[in-house]
Parts: sequence; structure tokens; C-alpha cells
Amino acid sequence: MSAMVEAVGVRKTFGDLEVLRGIDMTVATGQVVCVVGPSGSGKSTFLRCINHLEEPQAGRIRVDGELIGYEEVGGRLRVLPEARLCRQRQSIGMVFQRFHLFPHRSAVENVMEGPVTVKGRRRERAREEALALLDRVGLADRAHHYPAQLSGGQQQRVAIARALAMAPKLMLFDEPTSALDPELVGEVLQVIKDLAADGMTMIVVTHEMGFAREVGDHLVFMDDGVIVEQGPPRDVLRSPRHDRTRAFLSKVL
Ligand code: ADP
Ligand code: MG
Repeated sequence: MSAMVEAVGVRKTFGDLEVLRGIDMTVATGQVVCVVGPSGSGKSTFLRCINHLEEPQAGRIRVDGELIGYEEVGGRLRVLPEARLCRQRQSIGMVFQRFHLFPHRSAVENVMEGPVTVKGRRRERAREEALALLDRVGLADRAHHYPAQLSGGQQQRVAIARALAMAPKLMLFDEPTSALDPELVGEVLQVIKDLAADGMTMIVVTHEMGFAREVGDHLVFMDDGVIVEQGPPRDVLRSPRHDRTRAFLSKVL
């Protein structure tokens, strides 16, 4: 199986604060990797390094074989020109805790925005595709609603459809259900689960251990900028080998 993500030795500091202290991670194509860990352990920063929203101080990240953020010229690394960085980012979908929808645009307009403005898709074509994506996340009947008229779970599903509209190779989810009322968590997890079943490669930062166990192919526990422990979700959750993993799991399970 080929690797969709290959991160090696990723380090990131903010001033004196070492947030990532050498992260290695490989995600095979079609695999779902769940990342768990205490607040402040560097999970979001790592995701942001993958699409170069943060520039790591060291390390290399490849997505589908392509070095992210840099090009190799004569054996040396050079920062990638902005236009090419944008193209790389387009191939990586990201869904955040907060949905960041455009408030004055309907669900379908939110979903078609990227394809029209960034990819130059014709509006009619983009609208058809957006409607199909809204159908896929179970919101065909909400296409013309505005974000304020949708529940948090519905808004997050629109955000997922919007990310999918760019036809990403990889999806990054950063605590996609943490801002939701408990009764809305399930519908969003179900959409992510369906995506996994369709073969989407993804990294999901989550506190939903049931989801990690059921949907994750691999579980990574991060603490204090390092990967402390990883393995099949069932094994890590049932019999963690490290004290830090045990301490964390005892709080969230
Ligand atoms: P997590 O997602 O695991 O909660 P984060 O990656 O958000 O952790 O943050 C890790 C650490 O990095 C935290 O201590 C946070 O305060 C710090 N941090 C994150 N982003 C910045 C930033 N832009 N500037 C300074 N410190 C930051
Ligand atoms: Mg975070």
C-alpha cells in the first residue's frame, strides 16, 4: 500500500515553546488515523503543519509523494511559490471544531464557493456538484438554508461537504465534534464514518474514543509534542503501555 502522508522528524516551536518535538507519522492511502491527547499536546499544530498553515522548523512532510511547502532544487530545499502552495492545500481538506461557514450564503453557496472562485468551475456545474455533496452528507433538503437556520451538526456537515467539493486526496479533521451539543455528535461522526467506508484517507483528531475504536485503523496518542504510543485502536485503548496514555484515557473513557 502506498503512503498518502509521510511525516518525518517534524519540529515546531513558537518562541521558546517547543510544541512538536519530532513527529513521525505515516498514513497509508485509504487509512483512517485517529489522534488523541491532552489539550496543548500539539495535535492541531501538527495538522496545520501538514497543509503548511504552520511552517515547521525541521522535518519533511510528503502528501501523495509530494513534499509540502518546499521544492528540492539542486539538492537544497526552497520555499514553494505561493501559487503552488495553494494548489497543494487544495488537495488537502480541513474541517475544524468551528465551522467557519459564510453566514450570508446558503448551504449550497457555501459548498460551491471554493470550486467557483479557486478552481474556476462554471456556476451551474458547481451548483450541481454541491447539491450532490449535500445529499451525500444528508442535507439535500437544507441546501437553501443559511447557516443560522441550521443546527451545529448540520453546519458541520455543510463544512465537510465544502471541504469535499475541492476533491481532496486527504481530509484532516480537528476535533470536528467538540463544539457540538452531545445529541448532534452522532450525525457528524456518521458522515465521517461513511467517508472512511468510501476509502477517503484521513487524520482525525478527536476525543470520541468509541469512534476511534470503531472507525480508526490506527490510533496515535500524543502528549507534550511527541507521539507517546500508537497502534491498533483496540489495543491502545484496552491495554495502554505508557503511564501517560493510561492517565489520559482514565480521564476520557
Ligand atoms: P492541541 O491541539 O493538542 O490542544 P495545539 O497544537 O493547539 O495543541 O497547541 C500546542 C501548544 O502550542 C499550546 O501550548 C499552544 O498554546 C501553543 N500554540 C499553538 N499555536 C500557537 C501560536 N500560533 N503561537 C504561540 N503558541 C501557540
Ligand atoms: Mg487542538
